[in-house]
Amino acid sequence: MTIGDSGRMTTTLVTGANKGLGFETARRLIAEGHTVWMGARDAGRGRRAADELGGRFVQLDVTDDDSVQAAAGLVEDLDVLINNAGIAGPYKQQGDFTAGDLAAVYATNVFGVVRVTHAFLPLLARSDNPVIVNVSSGLASISRTLEAEVPYPGLAYGSSKTAVNMLTVQYAKAFPAMRINCVEPGYTATALNGFQGHQTVPEGAEVIVRMATIGPDGPTATYTDRHGVLPW
Ligand code: NAP
Repeated sequence: MTIGDSGRMTTTLVTGANKGLGFETARRLIAEGHTVWMGARDAGRGRRAADELGGRFVQLDVTDDDSVQAAAGLVEDLDVLINNAGIAGPYKQQGDFTAGDLAAVYATNVFGVVRVTHAFLPLLARSDNPVIVNVSSGLASISRTLEAEVPYPGLAYGSSKTAVNMLTVQYAKAFPAMRINCVEPGYTATALNGFQGHQTVPEGAEVIVRMATIGPDGPTATYTDRHGVLPW
């Protein structure tokens, strides 16, 4: 069981927790004794997921100001924020992407992270051990993209996650009392990729759970997968 200095159990919010990596992360953290708010944009799917795991459902669409504000009003204490909600967007040749394609993906993957982080920072600031985990991707890595013979056809997704990495480092520098890291779950069989990923969902959630449960001496401003540090 995880209990902070205040004597209260660790309280965690996972966005996009109704399925996939978010659901598995919530399951693991509940098993470790966290009180977990399971965010979902759809109330039916979210309530079912929370009932199944013994989490607390909170309606939370990361693209919607009113939804995020209402969620921040409901959650009274917060120690760990896991910005997990994400979409893949289209896959096509780089030259075929339009600004509209990128806008749709950034609305969730980038602006969603900023909207949720901005809304929950005041609650995290009151925690004894505030932690943020931003779920990024290996496809965010500029170093890896430079080395690849053929870049991955995900102009929108890859660049949105590169933005998430920069958000992570900027927030980490701005809030040194918090530990703020981004993680690459690895290619995992979820709806995001039509269940093509070669890792299982528990394998994918491993690094998210690990970075969600670091203590006050844990790292900040890092980019890791379950095997270690990744090149930016
Ligand atoms: P998933 O099974 O498709 O789950 C995505 C979750 O995000 C769902 O709960 C979805 O809700 C939610 N979501 C999407 N848009 C939302 C919005 N506007 N507001 C709130 N929730 C929203 O995919 P996943 O693989 O678990 O993805 C989780 C995270 O891991 C994403 O950030 C993804 O980019 C990242 N990731 C995944 C892989 C992989 O191989 N699977 C690899 C690297 C990184 P609905 O059910 O309502 O759609």
